[in-house]
Amino acid sequence: MTFDPVFDFFLPDRRQGKALAYPLIRSASVKDIIESLGVPHTEVGVIRFNGQEIDFAFVPDAPGILHIHGIDAPFDVGSPSLLRPEPLGRVRFIADVNVLKLGRLLILLGFDVTGSSTFTDDQIADMAESESRIVLTRDTTLLKRRKIVFARRIRANLPYDQVAEVVDFFGLRGQTAFFSRCTRCNQPLKPVAKTDILQRLEPRTKKYYTDFYQCPECLKIFWKGSHYEAMTETFTSLGLFPGKE
Ligand SMILES: [Zn+2]
Repeated sequence: MTFDPVFDFFLPDRRQGKALAYPLIRSASVKDIIESLGVPHTEVGVIRFNGQEIDFAFVPDAPGILHIHGIDAPFDVGSPSLLRPEPLGRVRFIADVNVLKLGRLLILLGFDVTGSSTFTDDQIADMAESESRIVLTRDTTLLKRRKIVFARRIRANLPYDQVAEVVDFFGLRGQTAFFSRCTRCNQPLKPVAKTDILQRLEPRTKKYYTDFYQCPECLKIFWKGSHYEAMTETFTSLGLFPGKE
């Protein structure tokens, strides 16, 4: 069997770029075979057995050539494929504990992202399935769970690089809506009249700003202050701002 070079990330050096022999000693599905070699099924785009496209449940029962292809970016999660016949209606994420900062940055860019340091692997898999969410994580083992269909094993180390990685992998450039969600609750922000929240503002904020937004859940107030300016600059340099109208 052979893996696309994109899988070198998951394979030990001795296995990279080589045709691997896999003994048919038990009736293992292709998913099990691929994952026993270290590659989570969520990273696989197409599998071919003797040239024929097959799905994860396929059990090779005769010697043959297995090719494992990666997912070509941009990955359109809204289009059905043999490996993922039920596409997602919209792009929503769940961030594992090791990429919570990435999750918050994606929320800042307007994406629907849930995540908590208290989520267990079981909870993440369950929510990925029940809420049709794309799992973002640096934990390769988590992604071997069957309930997780759409995911990205994050490669970049720094949160801003990770944002660019996710946006490019899922083809989300131009779909960002900076400053539209609460970074605490993931709720869409609503405009709020300054007069309604006057007593909650610091004197300086009261003096210099006129437009305010509020989270309907935690009631936190947001305004486009100095922090907003700095973030805009960073997102602009990454080509992520401005986004959609
Ligand atoms: Zn909130």
